[in-house]
Amino acid sequence: MNYRHLNGYLRERFGKKIYKLSLSTPFTCPNRDGTKGRGGCIFCSASGSGNFAAESRFSVADQLRSAKERIKKKLPQEDCGFIAYFQSFTSTYGPVSLQEKLFREAIEDPEVVALSVATRPDCLPEEVLDLLERLSRIKPVFVELGLQTSCEKTAQRINRCYDNEEFTRAVNALAARGLEVVVHLILGLPGEDHETEISSLRFVTSHPVSGIKFHLLHVLRGTALAATDYVPLTQEEYVFRVTDLLRYVPENVVIHRLTGDGDKKELIAPLWSADKKRVLNAITRRLRETGLRQGEALDLYMLTRDDMPSLRLG
Ligand code: SF4
Repeated sequence: MNYRHLNGYLRERFGKKIYKLSLSTPFTCPNRDGTKGRGGCIFCSASGSGNFAAESRFSVADQLRSAKERIKKKLPQEDCGFIAYFQSFTSTYGPVSLQEKLFREAIEDPEVVALSVATRPDCLPEEVLDLLERLSRIKPVFVELGLQTSCEKTAQRINRCYDNEEFTRAVNALAARGLEVVVHLILGLPGEDHETEISSLRFVTSHPVSGIKFHLLHVLRGTALAATDYVPLTQEEYVFRVTDLLRYVPENVVIHRLTGDGDKKELIAPLWSADKKRVLNAITRRLRETGLRQGEALDLYMLTRDDMPSLRLG
């Protein structure tokens, strides 16, 4: 494997196979309820960014139980652990006392090795940061932020409703409290090319982040994006872009995801993305054929800079 893959990293850290279990809170998103925006980001479906998340009307313990059962039914012999991943909408957009109850219920499960919370940079006030820091003394806490792009023009176009400064403030505040930050980037956003994506990635890795999740832009039924003339990436374009981006990720940063699978019932385009296995095989094939390595473009950059004085002298 020529990149720092999440599975390997989790096995190293926790000593066994770790599965992420998607959980839901009853919270919505400030970009949906009118506080920041209405209708949400243009690609976000009304069923939430966590389309696979268990339904929030069940208790966290029940959600965990049924998610674990599904895995254990498939792999009954495996000694494994779990990350409780609060994935739906904005998991820190609700009363802090309720957040505490839900998150504690998850990490009190002895098979849960860590907590992961998906949220927005503008939903991390001091009291939420305090809570997450307290919880991180019990079990590791990952905070996942959907930046998607660092291009402010695109951010407006996709109706993200927060700016890059807000992201910088949030990442620095999380890292200062020892919380691990995972950032989501989307490839194929309207108006963006590969250069824009490299620049977003360079922006992200100039912050103290521990992980990155790459996503393909999906067009889902009922979203604002579905009403536009957006043309999605081809599989070839996506595979080229995502593998090339790995060259710009510092070696210590964990790659949490190289492609996602949108909810098949809601997916309009690109339909090739529904076959996640095929996409992953194409990614693996390109990595093998090119021999490219995570961070290699940064090595080149450093080498060029280090070589500059001698080149000048020569
Ligand atoms: S911030 Fe997340 S949950 Fe909120 S609208 Fe955007 S994608 Fe959806």
